[in-house]
Formats: sequence, C-alpha cells, structure tokens
Amino acid sequence: MRDCAYIYCRKCKRKEWILITQDDINYAKSNGGLFKRIMDHGDHFLAVYIDGNGHLRRSLILTKEPVIQPVVCLT
Ligand SMILES: [Zn+2]
Repeated sequence: MRDCAYIYCRKCKRKEWILITQDDINYAKSNGGLFKRIMDHGDHFLAVYIDGNGHLRRSLILTKEPVIQPVVCLT
C-alpha cells in the first residue's frame, strides 16, 4: 500500500505531501500506532506524527538552536 499525507506548516505556511509506505504503516502498528517524519524547513524543522491510516495526528515546530560543543575538562 502506498498513500500520501497532507502536511501544513504553521510557521512558514508551507504545504507538502509526504509519501507513506507499507514500511511506515508496519512501523506505526508496532510502535503505538504512529510514525514520525521530520522535515527541514530552513530555519526550523517540522516534525509530524502520522497514524497507520495516513492521518496527521500531531505536528511540532522545532527551532534550530546553535549546536553546543561538549566541554572537555582536563584535571
Ligand atoms: Zn515550516
């Protein structure tokens, strides 16, 4: 089965279709009913949670923060 889900980003108003494969459906069925996709929208990420029927359940806007370098302490 192949299907598509319609995604709308509240932050940048971008509208996209994402492809849902049988692997995604199988993953959703064995992981609480949802699978996740993360899309790079330039200055932010859009994370979406889709159920096994291809319906969007939840979306999150993730802002890109500067990467923090680990601190090495020499004793
Ligand atoms: Zn966006």
